[in-house]
Amino acid sequence: MTKIEDRIGRRFEKLRISLLNTCNFSCVYCVSDDLGDIPAPSIGKSAKEQPLTPDEFAKIISEVHSLTKLKSIRLTGGEPLLYRDLYTLVGNIRNLGITDIRLTTNAYYLKEKAVKLYEAGVKSVNISVDAIDLELFKKIARHPDPSRVFAGIEAAIDAGMKVKLNAVIMRGENESQIIPLLDYATKLGVKIRFLELMKMGHLYQSKNGHFFPEEEMLKEIQKKYEIEKLPREHAETANYWRTSGGGIFGIIANESTPFCHDCNRLRMDSNGIFYGCLSNAHGEKLSPFLHDKELLTEKLKGLLLLKQPVRFHGSKLSMRNIGG
Ligand code: SAM
Ligand code: SF4
Repeated sequence: MTKIEDRIGRRFEKLRISLLNTCNFSCVYCVSDDLGDIPAPSIGKSAKEQPLTPDEFAKIISEVHSLTKLKSIRLTGGEPLLYRDLYTLVGNIRNLGITDIRLTTNAYYLKEKAVKLYEAGVKSVNISVDAIDLELFKKIARHPDPSRVFAGIEAAIDAGMKVKLNAVIMRGENESQIIPLLDYATKLGVKIRFLELMKMGHLYQSKNGHFFPEEEMLKEIQKKYEIEKLPREHAETANYWRTSGGGIFGIIANESTPFCHDCNRLRMDSNGIFYGCLSNAHGEKLSPFLHDKELLTEKLKGLLLLKQPVRFHGSKLSMRNIGG
């Protein structure tokens, strides 16, 4: 059987799964006002979606893993903590021999779940927090009380998880929060990554007036700190810097500093549809091919060929569908 590798040596090593495309937050950059951002076959909040069961997920993951030898799995969404059988699913994935299981969450329900998740096998969590200022956080998340997120962050640290924070920075909205967020992360002893706004879902083909580039983020941080760039690891989405204040921050700059050249990520949405590239809305349902390794290999190779050569362009799929 031929190797699933493209001509510049890219392979699928990390799988991100959107467990469900619904969420208790409606972040302005992720959810459009009319939910008009969701093309078929994925379905949204208003639709009666039945997420896949842990056994269905495990069956698909198992076959893909047998061909790609996945190094890690990230459970995301939508909001993965809303997935009812999360602990069972984590157990099923561990039973496949995949021990590096990570989570990306808004942390609203993490306070009560962190210890059990850690015991189930989730040792690493990325938590989205776009502002320290609560009024601003409410406005961005479009949720009346996102303060529970901070309790979730602390619970994850106390449970022993490796925690990273993610903040999407938007011009005219929350650039004032870069330093407070960095100082908060530094005080907790965790890394924070600032994300450039990506043209996904309803932002696709928009003018993107809120785009705030890496260069300006660095200037903002240098108003308070001296910074030193750290070496980039293979297939890492962020570039990292150390500050004179003792903190470490990263910037995920899809637009300014694309990282397509060594991208090793494969994505599956909550309907079992796979995507080879965040910047390509073409998806493949792999479940009909699970019994045939030759065909499955060909399908995975086809998805790998969808990866952009150098640049990220965005996609009409929203992040909560494709799994951010
Ligand atoms: N609900 C979880 C959360 O918010 O962490 C997991 C899913 S969310 C889609 C995953 C990540 O995608 C979050 O860090 C979020 O900020 C990011 N995201 C969503 N839409 C984005 C966009 N248009 N540009 C940049 N980041 C985006
Ligand atoms: Fe929900 Fe995450 Fe999207 Fe915000 S970014 S609406 S928390 S899925």
